[in-house]
Amino acid sequence: MKNKFETNSNSNVLFVTNQCNNRCIMCCQPPHGGDDIDVYYARNERLIKTAPKDTKEVCITGGEPTLAGDKLISLVELVRQELPNTSIHILSNGRNFQLNDYTHRLAVAGGDKLIFGIPFHSDYCGDHDLITGAKGAFNETMHGLYNLSEEGCCIELRIVINKLNYKRLPKMAEYIFKNLPFVSWVALMAMEDTGYAVKNDNTIWVEPIEYAKLLCEAVDILDQWRIPVSIYNLPLCLLPATHRKFAAQSISDWKTKYIDVCERCSNKSKCCGLFATSKKTFQGLKAI
Ligand code: SF4
Repeated sequence: MKNKFETNSNSNVLFVTNQCNNRCIMCCQPPHGGDDIDVYYARNERLIKTAPKDTKEVCITGGEPTLAGDKLISLVELVRQELPNTSIHILSNGRNFQLNDYTHRLAVAGGDKLIFGIPFHSDYCGDHDLITGAKGAFNETMHGLYNLSEEGCCIELRIVINKLNYKRLPKMAEYIFKNLPFVSWVALMAMEDTGYAVKNDNTIWVEPIEYAKLLCEAVDILDQWRIPVSIYNLPLCLLPATHRKFAAQSISDWKTKYIDVCERCSNKSKCCGLFATSKKTFQGLKAI
């Protein structure tokens, strides 16, 4: 974690807590207990007060940030007060947004600067709950998504592609346009091979070359229904030329790495590269 913010960085992070009410099978930052909310709040207060006034974006994350309860609302209010032009990207599993009053108060605090990044692991509730390690998580997150929509919030729906959900990607795309057409965009994301992903490698790891075709099908379905869609964390050389326009430079600057073959690649400046934090390197990388 950085100790000060930079104007154009994509890694200005307000870390709220290590605690989480999910146990996602591929979590890159496994949660642990302990009463850490006040300690992190004090640190975040300092970061916000010393941040450049033209900071483009801050990301509020954890653990699960909503476990901080009203302290999360205070944090958002403080960002709005000190950095009124800064976007606030909250990464949450969305379950606590099933609470109408809490969701309303948070939405009011953040106004039009809030973006909610909410994971959606499957259109089948059993798979979503299995991936999150929390029974009932699918229903709670869906309820949360509808509450956020009711508040007019900007929602980024995040799908982390793994062995348990990649075969359903086109079905998930269809489910989204039928049931969640209000989301602002969908991010289809390659997995970071760290934390629980390493521990559960046999259950969840799948190479992008195995899922690229289904990923492109899902992208086409969403695009056809005019739901904005992006591909995160996937190097351009693992996508067909037709779908590279959907790829975003999504990896935080401090986590990005390129390998030898990238030095000969004409697309390096447009490519997100690889996670420096991942244990494995994707198969099939080649200079374009
Ligand atoms: S070779 Fe490297 S820079 Fe080029 S597309 Fe692949 S990962 Fe990106």
